Amino acid sequence: AHLDRIERLDPTVHAFLLVDAEGALATAREVDAARAAGEELPRLAGVPVAVKDIACTQGLTTTAGSRMLEDFVPPYDATIVTRLRAARMPILGKTNMDEFAMGSSTEHSAFGPTRNPWDLDRIPGGSGGGSSAAVAAYLAPLAIGSDTGGSIRQPAAVTGTVGTKPTYGAVSRYGIIALASSLDQIGPCARTVADAALLHEVIAGHDPMDSTSVDAPVPDVVGAAGTTDLAGLRVGVVREISGSDQGFQPGVQARFEEALDALRDLGAQITEVSCPHFAYAMAAYYLILPSEASSNLARYDAMRYGLRVTPDGSPSAEQVMGASRDAGFGDEVKRRIILGTYALSSGYYDAYYGQAQKVRTLIARDFEAAFGQVDVLVSPTAPTTAFRIGDKTEDPMAMYAGDIATIPANLAGVPGMSVPSGTADEDGLPTGLQILAPAMQDQRLYAVGAALE
Ligand code: GLN
Repeated sequence: AHLDRIERLDPTVHAFLLVDAEGALATAREVDAARAAGEELPRLAGVPVAVKDIACTQGLTTTAGSRMLEDFVPPYDATIVTRLRAARMPILGKTNMDEFAMGSSTEHSAFGPTRNPWDLDRIPGGSGGGSSAAVAAYLAPLAIGSDTGGSIRQPAAVTGTVGTKPTYGAVSRYGIIALASSLDQIGPCARTVADAALLHEVIAGHDPMDSTSVDAPVPDVVGAAGTTDLAGLRVGVVREISGSDQGFQPGVQARFEEALDALRDLGAQITEVSCPHFAYAMAAYYLILPSEASSNLARYDAMRYGLRVTPDGSPSAEQVMGASRDAGFGDEVKRRIILGTYALSSGYYDAYYGQAQKVRTLIARDFEAAFGQVDVLVSPTAPTTAFRIGDKTEDPMAMYAGDIATIPANLAGVPGMSVPSGTADEDGLPTGLQILAPAMQDQRLYAVGAALE
């Protein structure tokens, strides 16, 4: 049924870069046969899933939304893909994304944008717009996303779906195409909090193949997703990313205030907390991310794998690298490589990268202080609803500004979730409520999200 729906609707939505009908059906048939034979099966056996094209899939092209990897067929599976296969979940295909996960709209995909199922002229968020649009349009019940600065949560918000960025290190990054290694985190996209919890449980857990993987038991997110009241829970409203003076769209602000009322009705105590250094989160992020990205993307040298363009004559290795990187990377990727290379260069390192790292520490301390007073923090996930395709492509700073509420969690490594929060009166488009918790307390997100559902 999902494959039929993809065939019918995806030419319009363009959530998928690749559909593996054969592979998905083969898994589904195996599960059917096993079930008929009375075999005991994992909980999500037979439930299809879509995977963001940032995760390596053995034998299936993995592009990260880039010309550079247009023909790259990985020789191995990412750990999370191995886990999906072990859970016997049919993999429907690979979803569209901003090139190398740089963006908030999916417009930076080298293969054309994904459209928001709520309004086809609008963006589905990014970088994981493909995964969230697939879930929102019922092309897939579940999808995998990656969140470096909001790429699971913001697409969830603008498509009316659920998305979780787990605690940094909670889900393996082995086999995930790296953007900024100290920020990247894999997580679930779903239509309900309980669905997200079920997928979270499948993908989370220690992996010796990832040196930053946390070796600790996975919190009981599925149990938490059964929460129905929040008696005694202390909820903090982060002034710096929630105040009515923060320039958020009126409909976003109105739905946020209603969510606070709903939390109160469920027994939570709401207080305002201040995280003064969040004001510098965007500036720090847009130095740290390009720095790490410029280093990670140095591997695309046209020698080992990926696109190779050979200029006429007898070019040097350097000329081949230059021509290949020029042809293989889009403008946003080049912009960030240049920025990151500059920020890391000797003489500027202390002034830019060093300063940004200090701000990062201050932001982590803001979280620590806030979580000394409250159990979870809340804010709107994004300042606006989905904007029109093309509206911000000429203005990277305007695009970056939309990440204001999601970035602090990545800088500090704490978990975050976006749950649907109703539609804005002015445009009828979905808004999202962001919930943040201390590191390793991911179950709190699911408890709050579930109680609100
Ligand atoms: N929008 C942010 C950026 O462009 C987030 C990206 C992400 O989380 N992958 O960097």
